[in-house]
Amino acid sequence: MKCLDKNQKLKLIPIIKKYWYRTLDIIYPAFCAACSKSLDSLRECGICKNCLKTIKTNISPLCLRCGMPLNSALNHRRDCPECRKSSYYFNRALCVCRYDGLVRLAIHLVKYKRKAKLGISLAQRMADFLQNHIALKEIDIITAVPLHKHKMRERGFNQAMIFVEYLADRFGIGYSRNNLRRSRKTLSQFSLPAEKRFKNVAGAFRCENPAEFKGKSVLLVDDIFTTGATLNECAKTLKQAGAYKVIAVSMAR
Ligand SMILES: [Zn+2]
Ligand SMILES: [Zn+2]
Repeated sequence: MKCLDKNQKLKLIPIIKKYWYRTLDIIYPAFCAACSKSLDSLRECGICKNCLKTIKTNISPLCLRCGMPLNSALNHRRDCPECRKSSYYFNRALCVCRYDGLVRLAIHLVKYKRKAKLGISLAQRMADFLQNHIALKEIDIITAVPLHKHKMRERGFNQAMIFVEYLADRFGIGYSRNNLRRSRKTLSQFSLPAEKRFKNVAGAFRCENPAEFKGKSVLLVDDIFTTGATLNECAKTLKQAGAYKVIAVSMAR
């Protein structure tokens, strides 16, 4: 029998992978959590491609500070009424889409059902969005809002790092892991009224190695923007470490 050379073996890998997933789909069929259609597990995870396509990303004009879509007919300024009353440590925040229905479900599946491949599909949307809204060549380093070590142990991974790793790989930008840290446990922001959220996270982060961020433009990534308190506190910590600029991006708000 003729032996296959290395190139022929490499060409076989995707074919074997495809048939392996096809077999798995027959034995253990998976269904879209949104429309119940059966999933092609080679390409889909948790939610089918058709449902994901219905997620609408925010379109310009966006508030130049917090990223909220602006009503251009009513607003000739480039910020929203809320931002005129607030000051943030991040230079700008961007949100890919509204936190409703399908996006809420998708983020839940990534975070609590370990659907990492679905996280990558969301990260692709985030990358497309960033490409259209910021000058990526100005970003020196990407990092994530960290989880506290207890939560990290419980969940096993930081969902925001799925976005960070995808963005870093796609845009060829370096990323930082484990430098920005959560130094104390905080209450879940969801459980608190808006006015208490800034206090809850005050002083909750630290930089292990400030030199990594010194003089740099940092892209700070999280999954959800609620009041912006967590992103703001992380941006403050990065600025104290010497970051020149912090642009925050979250998947949904
Ligand atoms: Zn579906
Ligand atoms: Zn705003």
